[in-house]
Amino acid sequence: MDLGIKGKRALVCASSKGLGRGCAEALAEAGVDLVLNARGAEALERTAAEIRSRFGVAVTAVAGDIVAESDRARVLEAAADVDILVTNAGGPPPGIWSDWDRADFLAAVDANMLTPIALMTDLMPKMAEKGWGRVVNITSQSVKAPIAQLGLSNAARTGLTGYVAGTARQVAPMGVIVNNLLPGAHDTDRIRSLDQGAAEQGQLSEEEVRQRKFLTIPARRYGTAAEFGAMCAFLCSQHAGYIVGQNILLDGGGINATL
Ligand code: NAP
Repeated sequence: MDLGIKGKRALVCASSKGLGRGCAEALAEAGVDLVLNARGAEALERTAAEIRSRFGVAVTAVAGDIVAESDRARVLEAAADVDILVTNAGGPPPGIWSDWDRADFLAAVDANMLTPIALMTDLMPKMAEKGWGRVVNITSQSVKAPIAQLGLSNAARTGLTGYVAGTARQVAPMGVIVNNLLPGAHDTDRIRSLDQGAAEQGQLSEEEVRQRKFLTIPARRYGTAAEFGAMCAFLCSQHAGYIVGQNILLDGGGINATL
């Protein structure tokens, strides 16, 4: 399918690895020029070079912490006129409810709610002026069904979800389409480190933890960054203009719900 976005420009945040990289690759395959970002410059430059040579699109890499205001300003300077925004950042650490204090909640809200809101606030006015734009926020299945040990994520991402529900309907008349993508378990460094923690706690091997988790997922496996990226590229495509303010769950059927 031709996604109809060849020649557009996208900012994909937190994209040297994992789901962000999956989104960047799928957009590049559709002919979209990219601004990529991550904190570690070396992995970011490597990813940028691989995408340039594989897909022949222009890629600008801006190393920096997307949550830090001064770094984000540099990213936004490079991405001032983008047509497409994919927001993403690292997820908060796991724990239990009694571990977390005000500072932990503020950090989670800053990274997983206020940062995507700041990016949208900055970039959507130009999209609206042009009469065309696409925003995809990478959130989590935890907004549909809480993951107890990720209470910081449950809380912060639900706040973003409420914001998007209203804002998506305010900007849709200007041709700016905003949606959220909710990953269930995907095979990335993030899930590997969570599995490692669970293995140490439960005195199991990491492989045993994975196999046990697979049994809770009807697809019997983790998702891939490429599958995730393909859905992101579709939501950024010309065909997605009637999908407004939705929360699309990619979880292999893991959440047992009718809707
Ligand atoms: P990942 O494999 O660990 O990759 C994270 C990427 O984001 C890396 O490129 C990392 O590079 C970059 N990054 C992290 N924090 C950043 C920051 N503050 N500023 C700029 N770049 C940053 O993680 P992932 O699995 O793709 O997860 C992406 C998001 O989806 C996370 O918020 C995660 O919690 C959420 N999620 C993932 C899953 C899953 O199963 N994978 C499930 C639900 C939700 P640097 O470290 O160099 O910055």
